[in-house]
Amino acid sequence: MKTFSTAVLSLFVVLGLALVLGCAQDTPTVAVEDSFDVVVIGGGGGGLSAAVEAADAGASVVVLEKMPGVGGNTMYATGGINAAGTRFQDALDIDDSVDLFIADTMSGGRELNNPELVNIMATQSADSVHWLTDLGADLSDVGRMGGHSVNRTHRVTGGAPVGAEIVLTLEQAVLDRGVDIREGNQVTEILMNRDGAYAVRVQRINGEVYVIRAGAVVVATGGFGADNSLVAEIDPELLGFGTTNHRGATGDAIEMLGDSVTWIDLEQIQTHPTVVPERNVMITEAVRGNGAIMVGRGGNRFVNELGTRDVVSEAILAQPGQTAFLVFDQEVRESLAAIETYVRQRLVVEGESLADLAAELDMPSAALEQAVAEYNEAVAAGEDTTFGRPQLPRPLQRGPYYAVEIGPAVHHTMGGIGINTSAQVLGANQAIIPGLYAAGEVTGGVHGANRLGGNALADIIVFGRIAGVNAAAYTAR
Ligand SMILES: Cc1cc2nc3c(=O)[nH]c(=O)nc-3n(C[C@H](O)[C@H](O)[C@H](O)COP(=O)(O)OP(=O)(O)OC[C@H]3O[C@@H](n4cnc5c(N)ncnc54)[C@H](O)[C@@H]3O)c2cc1C
Repeated sequence: MKTFSTAVLSLFVVLGLALVLGCAQDTPTVAVEDSFDVVVIGGGGGGLSAAVEAADAGASVVVLEKMPGVGGNTMYATGGINAAGTRFQDALDIDDSVDLFIADTMSGGRELNNPELVNIMATQSADSVHWLTDLGADLSDVGRMGGHSVNRTHRVTGGAPVGAEIVLTLEQAVLDRGVDIREGNQVTEILMNRDGAYAVRVQRINGEVYVIRAGAVVVATGGFGADNSLVAEIDPELLGFGTTNHRGATGDAIEMLGDSVTWIDLEQIQTHPTVVPERNVMITEAVRGNGAIMVGRGGNRFVNELGTRDVVSEAILAQPGQTAFLVFDQEVRESLAAIETYVRQRLVVEGESLADLAAELDMPSAALEQAVAEYNEAVAAGEDTTFGRPQLPRPLQRGPYYAVEIGPAVHHTMGGIGINTSAQVLGANQAIIPGLYAAGEVTGGVHGANRLGGNALADIIVFGRIAGVNAAAYTAR
């Protein structure tokens, strides 16, 4: 575990004390309204996956979601979910392997990742994509995101956002199984005693507080990218940065669990390189994956657009104005439905020719035309000798041409609660806390120092399922 800033540590001490006081009482001070075998905190992809599996294992399950609707950051995902060895890759003759997926993930994470957790994610990734598909999701299109050696990013045919596809599929599966979903219900405390987690304290939107007794608790509350004061406390360089996250991504688990659990790599916070300044709309990596290039204000390319997010973010911040432009043509636009959303949101600048586009952007047209011509030559040659871009799907040659101004914003919090391969939460002393499981962005270790695009969804579904299965088994013991 890395060291935190002193400020974060002292926050934990105070919160830890409060927690100990809360834990000391075996009898909650407010009404116990209900009792469930498995209480899932958080209705994002991780929590909903846990709920489906726990219900399938015969447990009674409640999902507590603090926002007015389920979905969390999962609902925002547009790029895709990674998996190695799926039937969809087979159909497209894509030669992939679990070992290659592990190697890409470890290298992308600068080898800081927990190899055991990465191994589980990669090994179970194909089964999880098939599981989602069998529940009704369309993940049959396969593309690639930065840092991957082969195409393994599974997405909806036609490019519709993958997050909504997954959330709506899981929500329906949860409802079909009779799981109780309570929206607008925020968990404020996880009650634990010497035997482990046994209840949660909940606050309704109207302020009412109540307690649910639990056979087991699954923490799936997501990350803390939307709390800039917490982000900046950990990494002062990110003070004032925008975020791609939904506003509920405020790291509630950090307050709830304090120093009673192990925290892994909390200081590893990822910026996403292509976020529209001020509007905070993330332009999916699939735009680059499908062929867009990136140019600076001078019309020049400056980076391998498909490099890892930390590298591309740094390169943009080194550009004049600390932003850059994604540039693409009509063919790229037609290849990805997500681009239509950006057009409707008025984020896209258009020009009939590259010269027209350059004029719109107040950019030297000769430089932009040269950058595109050189890129098209690289596509024809099948090799980008200037920047080493590994994937060159199509030339940019069919007008109109388009551009979106982008820059880095806080996107993913790689660190979080320490878990083992069974999704059991590790206490501060590394011992397992009985009855307490965690999955998804709230956990740390899978992504190391840098998450590869498409790996978060693989992580949350794989470990959400594991948490659900094991929480149900724990209550049935
Ligand atoms: C714009 C965007 C695009 C992305 N695109 C991709 C992509 O294409 N591929 C990919 O792999 N990853 C992507 N990611 C990352 C990925 O979506 C997330 O890491 C992942 O969905 C997190 O899932 P989760 O279930 O852990 O958390 P979430 O989906 O965030 O769900 C957590 C839920 O817990 C709720 N909650 C929090 N605290 C409490 C509490 N105290 N009580 C009750 N409920 C609580 C929250 O409101 C939220 O609904 C993207 C992220 C963003 C922001």
